Amino acid sequence: MQCPVCGGDCLQDAGSVLATLPEVFTPCDRCMIVSLDKRRPPPADYAPPPPCTCGRRVLDDVITTCYQIFTEEGITTGTEPLGAIATPVINPGFVMKAPPLLPTRSLLLLSPLPDQTTAERIVREVPEVQGVVQTSRAVPGIGPDGALATHTLLAGCDVQANIFPTSSGDLVVYKELSRLHLEFPHPVNPKVRAVERAIRRERAEIFVDACCGAGTLGLAAARTGTPEIILNDTYGPAVLWTTVNLMVNQDALLIDEVVLHAAYTDLPPARNDPFLVAEGLGDQHITIYQGNFDRLPATIPEASWSLTALDIFGKDQSQACTAALDRWIQAGGGKAFIP
Ligand SMILES: [Zn+2]
Ligand SMILES: [Zn+2]
Repeated sequence: MQCPVCGGDCLQDAGSVLATLPEVFTPCDRCMIVSLDKRRPPPADYAPPPPCTCGRRVLDDVITTCYQIFTEEGITTGTEPLGAIATPVINPGFVMKAPPLLPTRSLLLLSPLPDQTTAERIVREVPEVQGVVQTSRAVPGIGPDGALATHTLLAGCDVQANIFPTSSGDLVVYKELSRLHLEFPHPVNPKVRAVERAIRRERAEIFVDACCGAGTLGLAAARTGTPEIILNDTYGPAVLWTTVNLMVNQDALLIDEVVLHAAYTDLPPARNDPFLVAEGLGDQHITIYQGNFDRLPATIPEASWSLTALDIFGKDQSQACTAALDRWIQAGGGKAFIP
């Protein structure tokens, strides 16, 4: 599958990604493990060694190399703490027991600081860096007020995989960090657990992930063997990555094929009336829509007798949660919960 961002080979099927995990960030006997104080600038005379013969290098040395480029380009002054210049995101992201040793193209840098020239230089000169994203203040996506926000990919590619454990095995969830919000995997994912428990408790036959983001909860529901799964999001990039993630995890689901009903890489940023984008067909039936969640019950009758997860934006406010549940019920939706 071609990467929709860079056209390269960034995407692999879930089985291939999972097979790399035991070794991908593990040092060889010759790897040099250094640890620098992230609260201070790196030592002035410190020259990070090149990658080991196995191709890996410790995170602190990679970040120090980036730090020195930031300073040479005048983005920073050299007095900033090492840990302050960027948020490092490793690819693939999963729960690790030891600090990662980074192979080629396995790190994304998220930072408000860099300009185009600096970002391009980092991707060219630092082999471990896959992409540089300039962050804005807003969380990427459609905010509660309906405003569209994104970060900016300055250089390289910003597609990253996260591994989410479920009771039925690991899910691989790809996303584009400039257009979807960042997530860090935890040993136990409370939302995945909440979905699995609700499906068991309600003996759900139809599960709707009404604000699906990159598709994690709907795909976790699909892994339980629930016969009918509907994933939906109003935000185009979310639907794009949900479609990719359905294809990536296809072998672990009870489907034989994924049928595309639209050019999923070319969806509008937002859409109101639910629009069918893709379908997984087999012993399970998995559909992906782009649209407003409160229009689903009018478009898809199944939604009214489904179990629905409403994983809404900004749900730390209980008011917003109650409002979303009300909207769902008033629209004629079935049983729903906030995971
Ligand atoms: Zn790519
Ligand atoms: Zn090594």
